[in-house]
Amino acid sequence: MPADTTAPPAIEFRDVHLRYFTDKGETHAISSVSFTVRKGEFISLVGQSGCGKSTMLSLLAGLIAPTSGEVLINGRPVTGPSQEVGFMLQQDSLFEWRTILDNVLLGPEIRGMDMIAARYRAERILKNYGLGQFMDHRPSELSGGMRQRAALARTMCMEPELLLLDEPFSALDFQTRLSIADEIGGIIRSEGKTAILVTHDIPEAIAMADRVIVLAPRPGRLRAIHEISFPSAETRPGAFDARETPEFQGYFNRIWEEMEDHV
Ligand code: ADP
Ligand code: MG
Repeated sequence: MPADTTAPPAIEFRDVHLRYFTDKGETHAISSVSFTVRKGEFISLVGQSGCGKSTMLSLLAGLIAPTSGEVLINGRPVTGPSQEVGFMLQQDSLFEWRTILDNVLLGPEIRGMDMIAARYRAERILKNYGLGQFMDHRPSELSGGMRQRAALARTMCMEPELLLLDEPFSALDFQTRLSIADEIGGIIRSEGKTAILVTHDIPEAIAMADRVIVLAPRPGRLRAIHEISFPSAETRPGAFDARETPEFQGYFNRIWEEMEDHV
C-alpha cells in the first residue's frame, strides 16, 4: 500500500519539554523531543529507568500536558484523555469480582456506549484471542499470558486507534513472555493499529517494532532511532524467528551500546 503523504502523522512530538514540579524541586523529565510516527507503525521505546518513557506515554494519553512544545495525534493537539487512545499496563488490573467478559465490558459501560454492540464486539475479540472458553471465568482461573490477552481484549473493545503499552509483559516468565509478545504483536499488526511499546528488553523491542527509539536519561532525550528490517527473511519474522536472523545481532549491539553509554 503506498504511503498516504497527505494524511497527518498518527503521532507527532514537536520540541516537547516536560518538567515535573514537586515540593522536593523540579525534574526535567523530557527535553527537546521531536519525532513523528506513521499510522499503523509499531514503535518500541527503550531507555534506562527514569529517562521519561512513561512520561511520553502520559503525554500521549492526555494525562499531563507538555511544559513547552506540542504533542499531536492525527494532527490535532492532545488536550486530555480520549477514546482514540488505549493503554495497557504491566499489571493487567482485571477485577476478580467480574468475569472475563464483564472485565472486557467495563470500559464501554463506564463510557456509556451501546452495550449490545459492545457485548457482540467483546465476544468476538475474546474468541479471536483464544479466550472463547473463558468468558465466564474469573481472572484468577487464567494463566498470566491469558490474563494479558484478556487485558488486551479489554483495551481493544474500546476500539482505540493508538495503543500505548507500558512494559506490559514484565510480570510474565520468560517463555510466556516470548509467546505472548509474539501473539500480541501479531494481533496489533493485523488490526493495523498504531502502537508504542515501552520495554526494558532490547530483543523484545527489536523483534516487535518497525522502529526502535532509544532515549538517553537526565533529562530524557532522543538518543537514536533505528529503522528495523530483516531483508534476509522473506516475510516479517515473528518474535522467535527474528532473533535468529543475521540482522538481529547488529541491532542488538548498537542499541545496547547506546543504552550503556549513559549509565
Ligand atoms: P521511565 O518510565 O523511563 O522509567 P518516567 O517517565 O517514569 O521514566 O520518569 C522520568 C523522570 O520523571 C524520573 O526522574 C521520575 O522520577 C520523574 N517523575 C515521573 N513522574 C513524576 C511525577 N508525577 N512527579 C515528579 N517526578 C516524576
Ligand atoms: Mg516507566
